[in-house]
Parts: sequence; C-alpha cells; structure tokens
Amino acid sequence: MLSAGGFIMNPKMVGHFAPAYASGMPNGTLGDQGSGILLGMSAGGSTALMDKVSAWRFINPPKAWAQAIAVSREGTRFVDETVYGATLGEHIVDHHGGVAWLIYDQTLRDTAFRQARDKRLVPFQRDVTLINLLFNARKAKTIARLAGKIGVDPTGLARTIAQYNAAAHGSAADLFGKEPEDMRPIETGPYYAMDISIDSRFLPLPVITFGGLRVAEESGQVLDSGGKPIAGLYAAGRTAVGIASQTYVSGLSFADCFFSGRRAARHAARANV
Ligand SMILES: Cc1cc2nc3c(=O)[nH]c(=O)nc-3n(C[C@H](O)[C@H](O)[C@H](O)COP(=O)(O)OP(=O)(O)OC[C@H]3O[C@@H](n4cnc5c(N)ncnc54)[C@H](O)[C@@H]3O)c2cc1C
Repeated sequence: MLSAGGFIMNPKMVGHFAPAYASGMPNGTLGDQGSGILLGMSAGGSTALMDKVSAWRFINPPKAWAQAIAVSREGTRFVDETVYGATLGEHIVDHHGGVAWLIYDQTLRDTAFRQARDKRLVPFQRDVTLINLLFNARKAKTIARLAGKIGVDPTGLARTIAQYNAAAHGSAADLFGKEPEDMRPIETGPYYAMDISIDSRFLPLPVITFGGLRVAEESGQVLDSGGKPIAGLYAAGRTAVGIASQTYVSGLSFADCFFSGRRAARHAARANV
C-alpha cells in the first residue's frame, strides 16, 4: 500500500513534470518527495496528471484587495478577483505565465490597512497583509507611470482601469460578472501595484501536486501501462490520482485521502492480500 504523499518537495520531479510551478512555495511535508510514486513506477505502475498542481493565491482578507483588480503583463484583467484562491492561482500560472499584479489606489490601500486591524483576523492573515502593503507595492502618481515601473503595457492598463471604473460606478456591466459590492473604482492616486506572481517574494504562492499513480476506481489497485491492475499493489492519497486531481477545492484532498485509503484497505482485506 503506497501512501507516501505527493512530490512537491522534490524539485527535480516538479521541474520535470510541472515546470511552470517550480518557482512556487512547496506546500506539503518533508515527506512529499514522490518516493511512493517512484516505488510504484519501479513495480510497473503507470502515472497520470503529473502536471496537475494547485496554486493557492488567496487575496481576501483583506476584502479591499479582492475589490481591486488583478492584471497580467498585458495590463488586462482575466478573472473576477473574488474567485476561490485555487482558481485565481490556476489562472495566473496556467494562463498568464505565472505573472500577475494587483492594482489598487490610495483609498483601497487605506481600507486594507483598516481591515488588517480587524481583531477577527488571525496573525498570519494580519501579518501577511501588513507586510505586503508595506513592502510589496510599487507606487506611482499616475497609472501610466505605475505601468512603466512594473513592466506592464500602459495602454492596456489604462483601458482596463477605465472599464473597471465604469462597472464599479454602475454605468456598465463588469466583464467578469463581478458583483457591484465587490468593486471599488481605482481613481484616487497615488496608485499601487502588488506583485502576486508565482515568484512573489513577499506573497509566496503555495503549490501542491495532484498527479500520481493510476489506480483502479473500484479497488485502488495500481494500474500498469496497459491499464491492468497489479495484484497486491495499492496506492492512496496524493501518491495516487484521485478525486481532487483535476480540480482542487478546500477539503477535497483530505476527503479523497480518507476515501481512497478506505477503498484500498477494504479491497485488500477482501482479497486477503
Ligand atoms: C498548509 C496546508 C494546508 C492544507 N489545507 C488543505 C485543506 O484545507 N483541504 C484539503 O483537502 N487539503 C489540504 N491540504 C492538503 C492535504 O493536507 C494533503 O493533500 C493530504 O494531507 C495528503 O495526505 P496523504 O496521506 O496523501 O499524504 P501525507 O499526509 O503527507 O502522508 C504521507 C506520509 O508518508 C510519509 N512518507 C513519505 N515518504 C515515505 C517513505 N519513503 N517511507 C515511509 N514513509 C514515508 C510521510 O512522512 C507522511 O507521514 C493542505 C496541505 C498543507 C500543507
């Protein structure tokens, strides 16, 4: 029974199977070396979805950040910024080369500082907010200058902000269906750009692997390259492909670990392995 976690702590494997995620912050335990997957492969097991990695870019709290805009190198938005953190991370890494900036104005920055003092925040939320407000923001008097400082297309950024402000003021629908109460116009300079890229120094992007050994759905037995179960060899949790492998949402990995472990154990007990 192989149940030794994933391979996010093995830079060689990450570089080989999921290079786009190599500069993320490994999110796991020191045991996530891929040893279970490699052992299974050495016994004839096949793998799948080894390029599937989930990147968790949570930007709320503070809510003011989610009311701002995330833009790519082109200065264009690509998502409703209130989406679930793993969805935002997937957009940034899979569709925008791992590069993104959060753009906000002085009003939103002041609001974020106020929200950081909310007593309901736990220390890691408060401290991450403050550190990034203070040390992870480029500042400029105009949008054009801000774009120049961060290497983003100035025309694209100006157009994006004009569109966003129109939606925030209620005179147009938002391109991504963002709710009006989740938007604030970005119009009170100075303006700020916060690095939310995969390699952001002050806002690391946690990444976790979801590929692994292919297993039979009904038993958890490891499958060989022809799709045939290997007698007596099982895999569970992040060593195996599971329910969470294609799309992760909070809880789905834990749930899959419990489920897949029980599935394999039951089958092994019945088969009297
Ligand atoms: C900070 C953080 C937050 C998370 N939050 C969530 C969440 O909200 N919801 C969710 O669903 N998931 C979450 N996850 C992911 C989830 O915790 C993991 O996907 C899950 O615990 C993996 O379980 P596993 O049994 O596959 O591996 P593990 O729990 O890592 O267990 C594998 C065990 O095998 C051991 N091992 C490794 N190699 C060997 C070896 N060669 N020989 C012997 N033993 C070995 C390891 O030491 C470890 O004890 C989070 C993970 C982290 C790090």
